[in-house]
Amino acid sequence: MFTKSNLTYIDGRTSILRGVLDKACTIIQKSIPSLNVFLEEVYVGYDGGNDSYEAFHDGERIVINIYAFLPKLVKKNPSQTMVHDFVTVVTHELAHALMPNAGHGPGWRACHMNMIMQVMRTLEN
Ligand SMILES: [Zn+2]
Repeated sequence: MFTKSNLTYIDGRTSILRGVLDKACTIIQKSIPSLNVFLEEVYVGYDGGNDSYEAFHDGERIVINIYAFLPKLVKKNPSQTMVHDFVTVVTHELAHALMPNAGHGPGWRACHMNMIMQVMRTLEN
């Protein structure tokens, strides 16, 4: 049974995670402006009770399952690590969007790695 207080608790953590995801998307956008169009198709999902996946790309949209990230949120002030986690997950799906038929093969991996490198270069500067 939900009480008002634990609903607020869940909402609070969810909005923190949304903020971290926004931060990650902004960093990706700054690093790789050509991905803008794809970043507009990133949506927040909350698949309550299901932490078996972090995100998916359905051929059109990228959906991030915020629920899967709740256990990682231990502090009220999320660490830089969480931003990096979201960067990894979002770029993973962006690579699928760019290479729809590549699966997790070498082409997809090279594409994903390339995005991560560009983001890292931006973060270093
Ligand atoms: Zn994948």
